[in-house]
Amino acid sequence: PEAFLSVRDLRVRFSTEDGIVKAVDGLSFDVERGKTLGIVGESGSGKSVTNLTVLGLHNPMSSTVEGEIVLDGKELVTATEREMEKLRGNKVAMIFQDPLTALSPYYTVGRQIAEPFMKHTGASRKEAKDRAVEMLTKVGIPQPKTRVDDYPHQFSGGMRQRAMIAMALICNPDLLIADEPTTALDVTVQAQILDLLKDLQQEFGSAIIFITHDLGVISHMADDLLVMYSGRAVERGSVREVLRNPQHPYTWGLLSSMPRLGGNTSKALMPIPGNPPSLLNPPSGCPFHPRCAFRSEVPGTACSDERPLLADGRAAACHLTAEQKQTIFIDKIQPR
Ligand code: SF4
Ligand code: MG
Repeated sequence: PEAFLSVRDLRVRFSTEDGIVKAVDGLSFDVERGKTLGIVGESGSGKSVTNLTVLGLHNPMSSTVEGEIVLDGKELVTATEREMEKLRGNKVAMIFQDPLTALSPYYTVGRQIAEPFMKHTGASRKEAKDRAVEMLTKVGIPQPKTRVDDYPHQFSGGMRQRAMIAMALICNPDLLIADEPTTALDVTVQAQILDLLKDLQQEFGSAIIFITHDLGVISHMADDLLVMYSGRAVERGSVREVLRNPQHPYTWGLLSSMPRLGGNTSKALMPIPGNPPSLLNPPSGCPFHPRCAFRSEVPGTACSDERPLLADGRAAACHLTAEQKQTIFIDKIQPR
């Protein structure tokens, strides 16, 4: 079946005083209807820029976008701002990490939730408010008929996040982009919000792109997984495959630096040495090579010379052979 969202060879560059920043450098992925794609990577890996570009929210004055973004058959890279405005909040919606940046302190929560509904359906203020109450009920806000008239500061952090989910879903979007939506919340509230999102996805059938640096959250939420590094995808597959049998040294690093879910967190974690690469002057060859414990230095096959490509389907962009990966992962990495 054709993917609902198909991104092909996406390149996003920003001009800065110091030069050109390659924020996204040849990225391809698909999201299927009703499914969740998790995107993981450290900050600066290009995951947020990618999704802002899908929404047409990158700054066109300072950036250039090449490649294809096809949403339900419509090409978005070449779409006009007017066309993008019709999509945003309607067919595609976004949930941000911090509701306070998305909600204005000057308007009631209800009015802000109702706004995309009025804008995209032409509903009256009264109809839109009723719909906002309905949405507040769905996201589990108590006494929604009263709370609809509250201002954001009268809501707790968890309630504001629920309100933002209500606003994102009010037009029943086909694609929901959630960028670190629960990072600011405590663990209990985080779990409630994640369960809520899953339930609402069942009900609304939306596809979700879930951006996070937390593999534990991803394993709970996503069907498929894309691991990003230095503006590229370095590994792709179903969440099960990638977490059980990761094929890229960067993914090994992410997994071994992650506290095991429900496991013994006192166990020494193995952080990835070094820092994410500069996007101004990315490393030659494999962008991970300065931090990779398994890089080949053999002249002619050196990891610093040749950029490994990511094949289609289940794949990892790494020069190691399948046997090498198997041996290294099973013997040295897999925590037992
Ligand atoms: Fe490491 Fe080489 Fe694989 Fe890059 S290509 S991840 S440097 S082994
Ligand atoms: Mg980010």
